[in-house]
Amino acid sequence: MAKLSGIEVYKNLPRTNCGDCGLPTCMAFAMQVASKKRALDGCPHVSDEARAALGDAQVPPMATLSLGSGDRVLTIGGETVMHRHEERFQHPPILAVGLSAALGDAEFAERLDAIEALTFERVGRTIGVDAIAIRHDGVDVDRYGAVVTRIAAATDRVLLLLCDDPHVLAPAVAAVADRKPLLVAATEANADAMASVACQYGLPLVLKASGIDRTAALSERIAAAGVRGLLLDPSPSHVADAVGVMIQLRRLALEQRVRSLGFPTYVDVGGLVDATLDLDLDADARATAEMMAGLSFVMRYAGVMVLDTIEPWAVHPIVTARQDVYTDPQVPNEVEAKLYEIGHPGPEAPVLVTTNFALTYFTVAGEVANSKVPCFICVVDTEGMGVLNAYADDRLTVDRVVAVVREQGAMDRVNHSRLIIPGLVARMRMGIEEVSGWQVIVGPDSAAGIPHFLHTVQSQYQAEADTEAAG
Ligand code: SF4
Repeated sequence: MAKLSGIEVYKNLPRTNCGDCGLPTCMAFAMQVASKKRALDGCPHVSDEARAALGDAQVPPMATLSLGSGDRVLTIGGETVMHRHEERFQHPPILAVGLSAALGDAEFAERLDAIEALTFERVGRTIGVDAIAIRHDGVDVDRYGAVVTRIAAATDRVLLLLCDDPHVLAPAVAAVADRKPLLVAATEANADAMASVACQYGLPLVLKASGIDRTAALSERIAAAGVRGLLLDPSPSHVADAVGVMIQLRRLALEQRVRSLGFPTYVDVGGLVDATLDLDLDADARATAEMMAGLSFVMRYAGVMVLDTIEPWAVHPIVTARQDVYTDPQVPNEVEAKLYEIGHPGPEAPVLVTTNFALTYFTVAGEVANSKVPCFICVVDTEGMGVLNAYADDRLTVDRVVAVVREQGAMDRVNHSRLIIPGLVARMRMGIEEVSGWQVIVGPDSAAGIPHFLHTVQSQYQAEADTEAAG
């Protein structure tokens, strides 16, 4: 069934405008139900017939499920839209890195340490790899169980058990079931035994079939066996096909409401790259291919992704894109508008001004920190807009900048009256100078130029001070 309109919901309401739902009219309530802000149950007078008529549309088109335990519970699925601008994407994909159970001890420990180190700070948040995918790679049952237990003891990250032999998998699952790992994968050949393991411990299970029709059929079979948490791997044979398949799956789940496809998806990016590309690729080229494919699946529409690269430069763009795509486009990402100190600024320290859009502030603050020049940064409340947008929208004006710098007391903390403004709003310079009497210096257009800029102006100030002292 296609998405319900407000009118369709309205037709099934009592249309008495009694207000018992907290809204003044039935139409207002209907619009909220259609936009998923309210549930139909919010109206106490809905008839059974209306409930039945709208019931199917009230069920979320994609299931939500959680992996992990303790502080590492991660939720995926529950998506409702094809495009982020329609509403928002709900739950970011879980990013795992593969670790082969067949590795020798030294290499195994080294790789585990490298995976644990794959975290980054960005716009005030820690982002990085969420999970470890333990690849079976043909080892015996004792070895696989020992490796899974060892990794579980060494990390609190979510565990993915990539083993399609139920006899090898079952003892490993028993050892770490309380960590709520993801089991990968049920196929047409092993579905019953894998479903049995998943049901025994109440764990989510990836199903892997070739193409969408067979994925739907296997999904029905496994759901009938009692498995509740499913992920779909339609096994595209080539990276180039995979994004198209992911889009098709999403359309069928959300727009056609095909119940057997209403689950989050699973993509083995490392395996897909290996199946697609020339195996003689050097390590950097292979990591680049994983990065490019991983970026595609962040956009379209992975629930869980497994990489094999442990190169920070390949993982960082993926987690960065994930952070950006999974913010709410209707809620600006802001920092508090106040005077920030970077390093330990003294009376000689430069004073910069910027806006409270989080990405802008953290980028500027990061580059100031890189420069190793302690600075004050005055942050103007622009309701989460970046510099140019705020300027165009009159939220970053001459009077406002002067008022904020005065209110925050920046000039009281230094022995000069120089203010550095973003290069993108160079035309504000004269106005600020006229209103405030400060000397305004135009900074670089891009934050990347800040370190060089700060060193240059610092040298100039020092030369001026030396000349003054000598004269
Ligand atoms: S409670 Fe039901 S009948 Fe009353 S206004 Fe709200 S939607 Fe209409």
